[in-house]
Amino acid sequence: MNKATRKAVIAGNWKMNMTPSKAKEAIEKTAALVSGKNGCDIVLCVPFVDIDAAVTAAKGTNIKIGAQNVHFEKSGAFTGEISADMLLETGVEYVIIGHSERRQYFGETDTTVNQRTKAALAAGLTVILCVGEVLEERQSNITDEILSMQTKLALAGVSAEEMQKVIIAYEPVWAIGTGLTATPQQADEACGLIRSVLAGMYDEKVAEATTIQYGGSMNDGNAAELLAKYHVDGGLIGGASLVPEKFDAIVTAAQ
Ligand code: PEP
Repeated sequence: MNKATRKAVIAGNWKMNMTPSKAKEAIEKTAALVSGKNGCDIVLCVPFVDIDAAVTAAKGTNIKIGAQNVHFEKSGAFTGEISADMLLETGVEYVIIGHSERRQYFGETDTTVNQRTKAALAAGLTVILCVGEVLEERQSNITDEILSMQTKLALAGVSAEEMQKVIIAYEPVWAIGTGLTATPQQADEACGLIRSVLAGMYDEKVAEATTIQYGGSMNDGNAAELLAKYHVDGGLIGGASLVPEKFDAIVTAAQ
């Protein structure tokens, strides 16, 4: 398994944008643009309330729908939370876990990221697991240690078989929503580091088979260069995924 055989995945993270009616419109428009572009998997991760409209609009297209978080308990007194079974029944196939905005603003920890990951995998969802360093960590030359620690803690107790349903998104926090992008070399080095951590935790086969995305201000202008790198198998895209033409250009760059 190598870059040529690993599955490229272009995933959009809509964050807290789009009402259900806007979601329907955006997915119909995006679907028309990306139709027939089957050289990568295409996912849109939408707000919970948009899922129904998104799943309906994506039916029969090459777009799959994801959520942006999931709770680790099956049910119970967890006001405001959504379980993996609830997501599955609405037609969601993917879920983002550990996004830096969840870690920064909503108290997400490596422990809860691990709990959510295990619950999502047990239910049969594909996990897009986010890891990434903040600027001070990069400036202190501890990026490798941070990525290694976040990856190991998030995947503690996840089997080699379950890794077939794990995508890792390397998202340097300083590049998310800032317009600052990691250079292709920085992205490749960090994704390569994560791959070597997987080789240590599992084996070379798992490491080489795992899709590792780059995320952080990826857009129609810089995607081709980033996606050409050996260890970069796709992208997690925030802002540019809200604009169908921009998202389509990134999908095209991944073909
Ligand atoms: C993200 O939300 O994961 C992201 C990478 O956002 P942006 O592309 O806007 O930087």
